[in-house]
Amino acid sequence: METQHVACTHCACHNPMWKILEEDLFNPGILSKITSGIERMTEPQGASMLICGGIIRPLIDGDMATVEAIGIHKGKVVATGSKESVTAFMNSNGIQFTVKQLEDKQTLLPGLIEPHVHIVPTALLKGWLDLGRFDGQVLRPDYNPQWLKGQVTRHVKEHKLKYDLGSWILGREVDPALMPFQVNPGGLNELVTFDCTTLDAIEAGIPLLLLSASMHTMYANTKALEKIYSSSKELQQQYANFDAYKAATNGQLQEEEGMAPAMKAIPKLQIVEMALGSFEHLTQIFEEANSRGVTFMYDAGMTSQLKTLLDAYLLFHQKKVRIGAAQICATQQDADNLPAYQPVTEYQDVYYGNIKLVSDGSNQGLTGYQSEAYCCAPADNFGLFNFAEAGDPHPTTPPPGYNALVNTISVQKGWPLMIHANGDLAVQFAIDVYASTIMPGADTTKRNRIEHCSILSAAQIAEMKRLGVPPSFLIGHVGYWGYAFKEAIFEEKSELLDPCKSALDAGLRISLHSDYQVSPLGPLRMMEQSITRVMEAAPGNPNDNVLTPAERITPEQALRAVTHDAAWQCHADEWAGSLKTGHFADFVILEHDPLSLNEYYMVLRNIPVLETWKGGVAVYTHHAITANAENKMVTA
Ligand SMILES: [Zn+2]
Ligand SMILES: [Zn+2]
Repeated sequence: METQHVACTHCACHNPMWKILEEDLFNPGILSKITSGIERMTEPQGASMLICGGIIRPLIDGDMATVEAIGIHKGKVVATGSKESVTAFMNSNGIQFTVKQLEDKQTLLPGLIEPHVHIVPTALLKGWLDLGRFDGQVLRPDYNPQWLKGQVTRHVKEHKLKYDLGSWILGREVDPALMPFQVNPGGLNELVTFDCTTLDAIEAGIPLLLLSASMHTMYANTKALEKIYSSSKELQQQYANFDAYKAATNGQLQEEEGMAPAMKAIPKLQIVEMALGSFEHLTQIFEEANSRGVTFMYDAGMTSQLKTLLDAYLLFHQKKVRIGAAQICATQQDADNLPAYQPVTEYQDVYYGNIKLVSDGSNQGLTGYQSEAYCCAPADNFGLFNFAEAGDPHPTTPPPGYNALVNTISVQKGWPLMIHANGDLAVQFAIDVYASTIMPGADTTKRNRIEHCSILSAAQIAEMKRLGVPPSFLIGHVGYWGYAFKEAIFEEKSELLDPCKSALDAGLRISLHSDYQVSPLGPLRMMEQSITRVMEAAPGNPNDNVLTPAERITPEQALRAVTHDAAWQCHADEWAGSLKTGHFADFVILEHDPLSLNEYYMVLRNIPVLETWKGGVAVYTHHAITANAENKMVTA
């Protein structure tokens, strides 16, 4: 029996890129080069402080009630309640403290959580030219092939010398699903496609290699294809000449098999640059997270190599967010090699709380595994199931090998799982394998998750409730891609997308995630998208463009999904997600209360984050940033 691992995801989980680059990126020489000359970091001490005034919502047990004051000391919350009682507690315990008075509407909440992101892969690719569709947390209005061409042309002009010296143009996050599509009533709709002809029209003289947003396809121009072919003995054996290779791929390089020769052909200097830039990029990522109120991130696709790089970074830099992770497991052999699960009782940097399986692809990449064909070209496309077995590429029940894999991880080794499933059939298979491994006697405390869980029916929700399997939704699917799903990719089926309200009504505890860098970091924005469900790419009045209005949730429910319940899903509820006594003093101060806005669309995501604190240490202050900017202006 052979388990086949084809296209994976619209997230960096189990991504072929890293496998290809392992040797070049993660060798000890590179690591010592990155860390040479920088000092080990000693973490700053947490403040002893009483905070009062404004609106303080500690979210204890997920409750929205406010308190008058909160006391913090040695990085933890030591008291919450009336100002009098917190003051008395601090005094009677001999704690010397300062008082911080919030202004009227300022709102203190537990630090916000990103329960499914990809940290190191994003850092490694950050140096590539950004050809993505996001400007901050909103969609670019002009995202189309012409815009992309303009970006490339401008970039080449600015870095002429680099390209004269032989560098390739490397671009990332190309997302055809967010470009204008063509609707063909009665026939299949069409998304934009890129190939070597369209890329040659963008740039013909310099090798141009663009990575799709899904990270599972690369597009190459003819110049790049020539270099790839001439540097690969395997390709030369496989294809009689260059023209045959070009005709076969058309510049669309799919998956590890297609992408590996391309990655290997990139000038070594540029690969080394990726590794050398990674620390600076990690700093940028954590600073951006802090600026959006995030104090805790859960990496949904960790490998030992990615973790080595992250661990090295954390030795030398202030730890501005807490990090947990799910370890990627791709094969039965990986599962057999796992240690037995030990529940995490105390936070430590980059703790492992789950094992991650990636069962299908991406819906906007047309590779999520479906029971019915996609509504856009190519015809009869049901997507890809990654654990399909030889002879049965389109299984209708979970293949035996998949069941065995889940059984090993979940039953024999005892690990909580996170199964990536986007298409409705992949979601059904995830439910089925959970049902056959964790029933009877469903262990609802285990928090076996389904990630994205994008297309989900009422019957499936009921089954998930019975099994105690919570969903984590990539809510940007509704806000950013909703329009493309509704008009081009799924049509009616898009109504089953991210049914947050139905899941909550059934008694499931949901979380919202960005899958960064699939969508931007930003729990406030994710809250907003779950509250409004406005399809942001649709033309016209946002009020007329709500995807399944019945699935909108309340601001309270949305806040719980990015704090208290997200912490629970990440096995972090003993120390994060609420400001209970004994929990970490990880919190955020916003300019307004997100629970009492008159208007939510394009407002909630823009509430200014004034301060972000982790372990009683201010890791971000809005004012400091402004002051620095002013200083710079004075000295300039
Ligand atoms: Zn995923
Ligand atoms: Zn992911």
